[in-house]
Formats: sequence, C-alpha cells, structure tokens
Amino acid sequence: MARSQLVISRTSPHGGHPVDFCSPLADEYVCYVCFLAFKDPIQTPCGHQFCRSCFEYCNRSKNRNCMECPIDRQVVPYGQMHKDKNIELKVLSLHVKCKNFCDWTGELRFLQEHLNVCPLDFLDCTNEGCRTPIRRKNLGKHVSQECHNRILSCVFCTENYVYKDKEKHLAVCMSMHVECVNGCATKYIKRDQMALHQQYCPMATLPCRYEDVGCLFKGTKQMRDIHEVTSVQDHLSLAMDQLKVQSEKTESAIEKKSAILKLNKDVEFQYGQKRITIKSWRMQEQMIM
Ligand SMILES: [Zn+2]
Ligand SMILES: [Zn+2]
Ligand SMILES: [Zn+2]
Ligand SMILES: [Zn+2]
Ligand SMILES: [Zn+2]
Ligand SMILES: [Zn+2]
Ligand SMILES: [Zn+2]
Repeated sequence: MARSQLVISRTSPHGGHPVDFCSPLADEYVCYVCFLAFKDPIQTPCGHQFCRSCFEYCNRSKNRNCMECPIDRQVVPYGQMHKDKNIELKVLSLHVKCKNFCDWTGELRFLQEHLNVCPLDFLDCTNEGCRTPIRRKNLGKHVSQECHNRILSCVFCTENYVYKDKEKHLAVCMSMHVECVNGCATKYIKRDQMALHQQYCPMATLPCRYEDVGCLFKGTKQMRDIHEVTSVQDHLSLAMDQLKVQSEKTESAIEKKSAILKLNKDVEFQYGQKRITIKSWRMQEQMIM
C-alpha cells in the first residue's frame, strides 16, 4: 500500500515530537503517520509502532473494538496494543537543539526543562491589556520600560496611570506645572494654584474698582491703574447718578413709612374710641338692670 494513502494529515493536532534533532533521525524512530519522532509510542500485535495519538487519530471514526493498523489494516482488538517503553526511552535520549536557536543542546527528555528557562523563549507580557509575546531575556525591560500598557507613577501627583494614557492624565493632573493661562512670564504654576495666581498675575483681566457704580471697564492691572486716573470724572458722575437714584428710593421709603405710621395711629385712635363706647354701653346696661 502506498505510504501517501496512509497519511491522514500531517497537520493534525496530534503526532510526534516536532523538534530539531542534532543528527538525522533514524527511520526506526519515525512514526509512519506523522513522520516525526515517536511520542508516547504504542506497538500493535502486528508489530508496527505509532505515536498513541496518531494511532487514535487514524481510527477516530471506528468503534474501539474494531480498530486497525494504519499500515497493513490488521484488526487491533481493544487492549491488544502496548506501550513501547523501549522505543520511548531511546527517543527521549536523542539529542535535540532548542527551537529558539539558542546555544543549548541536550537530550529530548530535558528539552521542556530548558524551555522553562531559555532566554530566547517567548512569554506573554504580564501587563494588563498587553499580550505581546516577548523573549524571556527582554521581558523585564519590556514590562517596566517599553510596554505601552505599563503602569507609571505621575512625577507631579504620584497617582498611577497607564503609559498610553499619559497625555490624558497630564491634561487633567492638578499638580502638573503649567504656564500662566494669560501668558505672563510665570511658568511652572501648579494647575490647582492657577486661580490663586490670577489674583496677582500682571496679565490677568480685572474689572474697574468702580464696577459697583456702573463702570464697565476691564483690563490688566496696569491698564486699570491708567483707566482709574483718566476716568475720575466719569466715575464721579456715575457715582452721582447712583446717589440720586438711591436718595429717591430713600425719600419714597420715608414717605411710605410715615404714611404707615399715620394709618396705625388712626386705627389705634378709632379702636380706643370704640372701647370707650363699649364701656359706656355696659355701664348704661348695668344702670338699667
Ligand atoms: Zn506520529
Ligand atoms: Zn500492522
Ligand atoms: Zn533555548
Ligand atoms: Zn506589554
Ligand atoms: Zn499627576
Ligand atoms: Zn500669569
Ligand atoms: Zn472705571
């Protein structure tokens, strides 16, 4: 039977050891199904060997009581195949290279042990949100210095943020040093001190101190000083107008108050009159009785 007809799939998830051997692999160690070195080999009663998973893969559609040898189609009754410990030990003793092309070579049985520490092996980055595979020897540097998802502590406020959100954090960090919003010479103002700075900033826009009497001027401290000197007349007339309005209000308030007082007196007088009247009525009644 042609060999190609027997091969189910070389790309099946099953099969032998997919490793690089230091010397060419002898035919006696090669599985007929996957063309790789035997992994967990079994031997059928007809004397053929396969990786256990390759044998099961070839018989995957068959009842386990009527499985057959992939090479000669002989029936293999359940329980009639045996683990081939001899071949397994030989395969595990073969020398292999590391898949990462590092300098290591050694027996296949120690390969996994080596991969656990191989400096060129790939591991996933441990930072949340980053699954980038990084070589073991570079992982520490990546995690703490290069990864876009690394956690940084803000130099201004000591709060933690993810590196890729740095701009977002600095845009709102209240301890970050910023330049004056008015563009004065002061740089390095903590963002949460900006309101305080506005009270002293030479470029801040201030209202005229006669705002209360109706002056609408606004300008820098220097402009305001000049304005206040040059607008004395204007401020005086604004103050006068205000005074007039106030005194009118006061006058009418005084008038209102005296009118109320007068009304009160009238009521009291009338009430007093009524009491006298009632009293004299009662006296008259008693006299009659
Ligand atoms: Zn195989
Ligand atoms: Zn056979
Ligand atoms: Zn290695
Ligand atoms: Zn990362
Ligand atoms: Zn901050
Ligand atoms: Zn300023
Ligand atoms: Zn003014």
